[in-house]
Amino acid sequence: MDADAAESAQVSAHLAEVRTRIATATRDAGRPEGSVRLIAVSKTFDAPHIRPALEAGQRLFGENRVQEARAKWPELTADHSDVELHLIGPLQTNKVRDALGLFDVIHTLDRESLAVALAKEMARLEGRPAPRLLVQVNTGEEPQKAGIPPLDADAFLARCRETHGLVIDGLMCIPPADEPAAAHFALLATIARRNGLATLSMGMSGDYETAIQLGATHVRVGSAIFGHR
Ligand SMILES: *Cc1c(COP(=O)(O)O)cnc(C)c1O
Repeated sequence: MDADAAESAQVSAHLAEVRTRIATATRDAGRPEGSVRLIAVSKTFDAPHIRPALEAGQRLFGENRVQEARAKWPELTADHSDVELHLIGPLQTNKVRDALGLFDVIHTLDRESLAVALAKEMARLEGRPAPRLLVQVNTGEEPQKAGIPPLDADAFLARCRETHGLVIDGLMCIPPADEPAAAHFALLATIARRNGLATLSMGMSGDYETAIQLGATHVRVGSAIFGHR
């Protein structure tokens, strides 16, 4: 599918609307202006669809597959070196090296073996910048979903720091699709607070305003900007 002029105009209009709603929700929550960053989730969309968002000044983007990001982003970042790329999908240990070269933030540290692989590969970076790391928490304890169970989160965070020498910036969650998200966002915020973590990646197209109310610092919005996948 070609991104024609009408589609480009739609992406920038949707982006403007999402930005306005983020600003309003931030203000309504009594939080400082600019304290919530928008990650435009561009997974499945090709470069011509992403370019209008770049042209509208969007700089944080989310992708869920290492392979897909590697195929489309080098071309896009060639003109925009200040883009920040966020990995929001599961990371296989055999893709860690690739991921370290591509992403500025990894939201999906979700198991011990990945902590081990990240620590090992980060040690080889020799001064090159390492991505910031968020631990994914399975707040709904869904068997099919990735993430650390809430009751194990404190111990896992301690092992990441003390055993694996990783710096963890914050937490991420994807609430169950069939439940109100607010309780999950509140739980994530509570775990972050008691572990001294500043970054909260939570909220998608359907619930980012709720997430902002409950302390999100990063919202991950895809379809409300780029349309249906
Ligand atoms: C796809 C995806 C999003 C964006 O979802 P939308 O409902 O399209 O906004 C956010 N977070 C994760 C982890 C995703 O995989």
